[in-house]
Amino acid sequence: MNYPKTNLHTHSVFSDGKNSIKQMVAIALKLKINYLAITDHFSDSWKCKIIPTLNTAEKIEDYLIKIENCQRYLKTNNKNLRLFKGIEIDIGSSEKGIKKLIRPQDFDIILFEYLETPESVAYVRNIIQYWKKLNPINNKFPILGLAHFDPSNFIYHGLDSLIYFLKEFKIYYEFNSSYYEYFSRKNELFFKKLKEHNIYVAIGSDAHNSNGLDFIEEPLKMIEIYNLENNFNLFLERLKNR
Ligand SMILES: [Zn+2]
Repeated sequence: MNYPKTNLHTHSVFSDGKNSIKQMVAIALKLKINYLAITDHFSDSWKCKIIPTLNTAEKIEDYLIKIENCQRYLKTNNKNLRLFKGIEIDIGSSEKGIKKLIRPQDFDIILFEYLETPESVAYVRNIIQYWKKLNPINNKFPILGLAHFDPSNFIYHGLDSLIYFLKEFKIYYEFNSSYYEYFSRKNELFFKKLKEHNIYVAIGSDAHNSNGLDFIEEPLKMIEIYNLENNFNLFLERLKNR
């Protein structure tokens, strides 16, 4: 089956990527990508001491404006590329920092990284519930996903409650081409459950430079191998309608 070329996990100079947002859009156009999300890092944990992140309100505002400028350009010039505003939240960040700086309605896609324990699921649930209360109108609410999530952390313990959590908030599993080991056969049970429960799946490459922008072939193959085409189609439908 022919899918739109989709990459929903990329980084620009606003965090640890090498290219400006404008440059990434120009490269994506050359590569004939149809759906692109820029998902720079948010963190106020140890991580923000190592890499630049979207850690102030001013920086986030500037980031969003830069993406909007590109969106306008793409629309006025009738380009076959849709650009989405994303952010990747390090869940080692403080609850206070996340609640203070991230307004969910400003984003199309919010990724959570480092979801590894039942406690971290509870932490993220608490944040989503807080956001939902602030945004009772659902159509403005962003699409939520797990960045390079490793299912093996849950495969022997807590798998059902994880699946319930993904279903409850329509959170997608990302096939991330920088982390092949996470889609290995040892996690097959997880992928079976995704299928059984119609959990969304999507694709990202975690590109930090122009090279990685179209590394999306392997994830597509894995979606077919695990019979998750329907899950991906459901996701694309939701994305298209944003
Ligand atoms: Zn990333």
